[in-house]
Amino acid sequence: MNQNIPYKIYLEEQEMPKQWYNVRADMKKKPAPILNPGTLKPVTLEELSGIFCRELAKQELNDTTAYFDIPQEILDFYRMYRPSPLVRAYCLEKKLGTPAHIYYKFEGNNTSGSHKLNSAIAQAYYAKKQGLKGVTTETGAGQWGTALSMACAYLDLDCQVYMVKCSYEQKPFRREVMRTYGAKVTPSPSMDTEVGRKMNAQFPGTTGSLGCAISEAVEAAMSQEGYRYVLGSVLSQVLLHQSVIGLEAKAALDKYNIKADMIIGCAGGGSNLGGLISPFAGQMLRGEAEYKLIAVEPASCPSLTRGVYAYDFCDTGKVCPLAKMYTLGSGFIPSASHAGGLRYHGMSSVVSELYDQGLLTARSVEQTEVFKAAQTFAKVEGILPAPESSHAIKVAMDEAIKCKETGEAKNIVFGLTGTGYFDMMAYQRFNDGEMQDYVPSDEDLTKAISQLPKVNVSVH
Ligand SMILES: *Cc1c(COP(=O)(O)O)cnc(C)c1O
Repeated sequence: MNQNIPYKIYLEEQEMPKQWYNVRADMKKKPAPILNPGTLKPVTLEELSGIFCRELAKQELNDTTAYFDIPQEILDFYRMYRPSPLVRAYCLEKKLGTPAHIYYKFEGNNTSGSHKLNSAIAQAYYAKKQGLKGVTTETGAGQWGTALSMACAYLDLDCQVYMVKCSYEQKPFRREVMRTYGAKVTPSPSMDTEVGRKMNAQFPGTTGSLGCAISEAVEAAMSQEGYRYVLGSVLSQVLLHQSVIGLEAKAALDKYNIKADMIIGCAGGGSNLGGLISPFAGQMLRGEAEYKLIAVEPASCPSLTRGVYAYDFCDTGKVCPLAKMYTLGSGFIPSASHAGGLRYHGMSSVVSELYDQGLLTARSVEQTEVFKAAQTFAKVEGILPAPESSHAIKVAMDEAIKCKETGEAKNIVFGLTGTGYFDMMAYQRFNDGEMQDYVPSDEDLTKAISQLPKVNVSVH
């Protein structure tokens, strides 16, 4: 055992990943293809290129190429905030009195405050390279919109963000960060799009949902010349870009001969988790190593632990391709949990397939215990974690405490996706003792799941 592991493991310039890794290439059974919502046939590159930038559509459909070169311009941008440190949580270990070694990969060291910038810059780059004027997107809690605004500002690209109305009103700070970076931010449902007008007519006074904001953003992209839609999670292209997290983490561990026993990540749409575990899952798929991989989701939105594995719409407006995924049904409206980034009805098809094959396990946790873990972590490690990230902290701590009982010095690695400075209303509720847990009943779940689209595709 190497006793001299620094508090933070950084990589040298020459140790940094120069390629993204596509875990689908090493999967014998691939994730099911995404389908055209109109024809229910696998989406073609031509069709997908109408919504997404062409290069990104290609990445989305490519499940055979293992490595993609990261373009130099993106490497240059990454250099502003990468490598992100792999931190040995010495103080947390001491606090818990555990023999386990805990490491976290910290993605909150950039102005957007999360890992989302890793994919935002890639997507903005390919849009720019294609000669587009701009991109449209949705944002829930605001992290993705913020990341995309930063990336677009850097590349001088127009950025239009549909922000779920309740966040637009309740989270003015993220909204203003986006506007400062030059993005146009519209509360959703808006009166600018057909989907938005329909939602407003059908549900007067609605404060919106992520699914609806996605539909609005897609419609906005399709109706403007020179615009494409971009999405911050769920898609396979996003997991590809986020593999930079896992590749760096693995390089840092390898540098000190550390063999991870378990790797833990929070899961909303699955992008940070998918990116973090990709290189490790790749080793498992190739029979080179074994790890325990754990996805952590909120008990209020338990797509892996209580959802079904089926084709579903990615958005409420049913304009995006259908994906086969673990889902609660696109009609499922999660309760107002404070981890906005984890309130999505479905899960990345890659993460879903890895889970279905048994390479990945999942756990759900309730938010008050998550905030307790966040507070413990903040006190000893100094970082004020995002509520989403704190789901991973909670399970990492649980596992470290188990090691205390068994006396095992396991290596626990988890993804700390971001900081929580814009989530102080959530912390306020926690500090005031007003935070509540909400777990949907079986009845709540059955209702949305019974409305899944009936898709009978004979694709392998
Ligand atoms: C968006 C977000 C998440 C969840 O998204 P994934 O696609 O599941 O990674 C987690 N943590 C933070 C800080 C986020 O902003």
